[in-house]
Amino acid sequence: MTDHSVSAFLAGLAGALADHSVPLPGEFGLEIGGRTVEPREWSTDLDPATGAPLARVGTAATEEIDQAVHTARASAPTWAALAPAERGRRLRRLADLVREHADVLARLETRDTGKPITQGRSDIAAAARYFEFYGGAVEGFLGDSIPLGDGSLAVVERVPHGVTGHIVPWNYPAQITARSVAASLAVGNAAVVKPADEAPLVALCYARLATVAGIPDGVFNVVPGGANAGAALTGHTEVDHVSFTGSVRTGRAVARACADRGRPVLLELGGKSAHIVFDDADLDRAVPVIARALLLHAGQTCTAGTRVIVDQRAHDDVVAALRPYFESASLGLGLTDPEVGPVISASQAARVRDLAAMAEAEGAVSAATVADVPAAGSFVAPMLFDNVSRTSTLFHEEVFGPVLAITSVDGEQEAVEAALDSRYGLTAAVWSRDVDRALRVARSLDVGQTFVNGYAPGGGVELPFGGTRDSGYGREKGIEAFTEYTRSRTLFIDIAKR
Ligand code: NAD
Repeated sequence: MTDHSVSAFLAGLAGALADHSVPLPGEFGLEIGGRTVEPREWSTDLDPATGAPLARVGTAATEEIDQAVHTARASAPTWAALAPAERGRRLRRLADLVREHADVLARLETRDTGKPITQGRSDIAAAARYFEFYGGAVEGFLGDSIPLGDGSLAVVERVPHGVTGHIVPWNYPAQITARSVAASLAVGNAAVVKPADEAPLVALCYARLATVAGIPDGVFNVVPGGANAGAALTGHTEVDHVSFTGSVRTGRAVARACADRGRPVLLELGGKSAHIVFDDADLDRAVPVIARALLLHAGQTCTAGTRVIVDQRAHDDVVAALRPYFESASLGLGLTDPEVGPVISASQAARVRDLAAMAEAEGAVSAATVADVPAAGSFVAPMLFDNVSRTSTLFHEEVFGPVLAITSVDGEQEAVEAALDSRYGLTAAVWSRDVDRALRVARSLDVGQTFVNGYAPGGGVELPFGGTRDSGYGREKGIEAFTEYTRSRTLFIDIAKR
């Protein structure tokens, strides 16, 4: 694909991205081998803000997944043979192209997922950073030598797996695709990405932009689809490594499929992340961060920080300070940049409402909610629940909607016990002015990332990211992702004495 044809394609979308009233022109086929392939089947991608059709998108059949994997397999050796500096240069060019087309891509992400345009823009900025960061960092990703004395030379190289499969969910497809594909491609793999049927558009655009950036045809393939396409990819004998981001249930099915073939898998799953707020916390600092992390993308963030575990001495102040965020949150169409957009689908909205009703039945007290909810689209009122007991469903279940649970505790030990009382272990935050206590508590939590007096797990391409227990295993982001997307190969040379 030429620079001109990709730019023309993106410019053609721009007119339909001014508001939510019209569907996108044309169709989105499969991106295999550097060209757009007509699929056997089409699906209708909906705009969650209106519930109306947004785009006609290809949904990959088993044969098309097979075609994408074989194409990736054929192109992987040439790509891997390039010097890291050259692969990096092309990835950095891709970062530039993403920035050049940031406005269209952000609007596309907003219409596809429902999120406010400010969030869409910051997702595209983060995506560009992933291509840039890994494109630069790969030049410093070195092997090792092991000293064993004069009689030998032992060298450990890091080599790519070959073909990597990437299963991406619908909530942050622009960021998640970039974070895992950028690291994988930088170290010399060829990738096959399967975005969710609900939100595949930006990933499909990346594949087109990759060809303009000089990434060889077949190295970056995107084949949207649902469970069947995902199962075909994760079960494919020619896929050497799988990165999965999504729910615990599907993650386990994917891990089983990989185990059956004896291939490695990385699981980025759900969360029920805790904010531990002590009585000496700076609430002016803590409360806006807690509220925004939750309301961001209507609670559909794996790191949303959905449990507030607050010392009883600070409880009333925390509830009072949180309340206005929930009572006055503006709900609306993503392109109008409201504080809260819709959830992804009508069925997700129904699930959130059911869990909220269950919370009340189990003794939680509604402390604040929004009265004005748009009738069209899949909107859910943000809800603040107080008095959420540690035995309740709301304390333990990931809602994936704009619902925050407050649980009161007495002192440090009880706070830590409550935070640990979860099957998830993704992220956490500790809010306290007592540095000893903050660090003691932070280190006692069994999670992948802990923040002290702040919370920004979505940002920062440099920080390794991943969970413990039901939140998964393996790490994306940071230099650590390079270890994930490579394996070591040792070369031992016996040196004869003279
Ligand atoms: P999901 O598990 O239903 O779907 C995720 C992806 O898996 C989609 O692309 C889907 O099409 C695909 N899939 C479905 N069945 C499959 C199968 N049998 N084999 C292979 N692939 C299959 O999850 P979701 O509802 O789309 O996403 C929400 C979940 O993702 C939440 O639990 C959330 O916490 C989690 N998530 C985690 C992170 C993280 O980085 N830890 C980030 C975002 C979302």
